[in-house]
Amino acid sequence: MTKEDEKVIPVRVVMRCRPLVSKEINEGCQCCLTFVPGEPQVIVGNDKAFTYDYVFDPTTEQEEVFNTAVSPLLSGLFRGYNATVLAYGQTGSGKTFSMGGTYTSEQENESTVGVIPRVIRRIFQEKSKCADCEFLLAVSYLEIYNEEILDLLCTSKDKPIISIREDPKDGIKIVGLTEKEVFTAHEMVGCLELGNSARTVGSTAMNAASSRSHAIFTISLEQRRKGDKSDVMVSKLHLVDLAGSERQKKTKAEGDRLKEGISINRGLLSLGNVISALGDESKKGSFVPYRDSKLTRLLQDSLGGNSHTLMIACVSPADSNIEETINTLRYADRAR
Ligand code: ADP
Ligand code: MG
Repeated sequence: MTKEDEKVIPVRVVMRCRPLVSKEINEGCQCCLTFVPGEPQVIVGNDKAFTYDYVFDPTTEQEEVFNTAVSPLLSGLFRGYNATVLAYGQTGSGKTFSMGGTYTSEQENESTVGVIPRVIRRIFQEKSKCADCEFLLAVSYLEIYNEEILDLLCTSKDKPIISIREDPKDGIKIVGLTEKEVFTAHEMVGCLELGNSARTVGSTAMNAASSRSHAIFTISLEQRRKGDKSDVMVSKLHLVDLAGSERQKKTKAEGDRLKEGISINRGLLSLGNVISALGDESKKGSFVPYRDSKLTRLLQDSLGGNSHTLMIACVSPADSNIEETINTLRYADRAR
């Protein structure tokens, strides 16, 4: 089967609900979501029902999320398709937990290991299976904050200016960004840990900036048959922990804080527009507004076209969060 024969389903949307956390239990919060056994459906309150490709209830383990939703994208990656996994939802809904954005190699509870470290393991397993292939693997890790790109793998004090360029042949290139070639899973995990800690340090300094920024861990893969210099297959996978989707409180704050609120909404807003344009068969071939934000511009060659996109819509089960939960479910619904 050639690439053209396969039917690419451009966007898949899954919902994941985390368990109540102890703070919510202590405050007497109730669960406001009902899950329909055997159906990918969730009911909010008494009547509002939403259906997605999969619905993961609070008992769902990290391994199941990976095996059901993420693993198919990896098969595509090895066949040359770009892919993107996006975790969407309000702050505290489980985006970073799901993606594995606090992973350290000392993490003791294997069952809590999230998407990115599992992806890394799988990639190196697949690589070791193909004896007559040569692989070139590289990673980058960046944050978009206030429409500005920050390099999470750059440790030097003089950070180069980063810009996005579009190359007709190679697609989107991010000039000035650290791209680290890696040879082992251990090295790739090291990059994840380095970037995670850069993110955490930044967030204490910048008023919980991590909830206002998008973090993108990118794995680039080049494959060729040994000895065959001409036939190179190139693909990349973006793993994205999006900024919190909660609406910025309307304050009279001016300057920086106001600017923050606006720019974050811009990324999530244009992502919603891009994804709904891609998912809509009737809009096929029509204009997709990638250029409206850094986020969508950066992901442009990995959303739509021959790429696979998975959105994990993360929600809290607590009745105290019901408004934001409905917002998330609607956003995710629009993406289907
Ligand atoms: P976000 O990144 O969306 O702000 P976090 O991933 O930090 O949210 O999750 C908020 C809290 O909920 C954390 O303490 C996290 O460990 C916990 N949590 C999130 N999802 C789950 C889950 N599926 N199972 C258990 N705990 C979870
Ligand atoms: Mg987070």
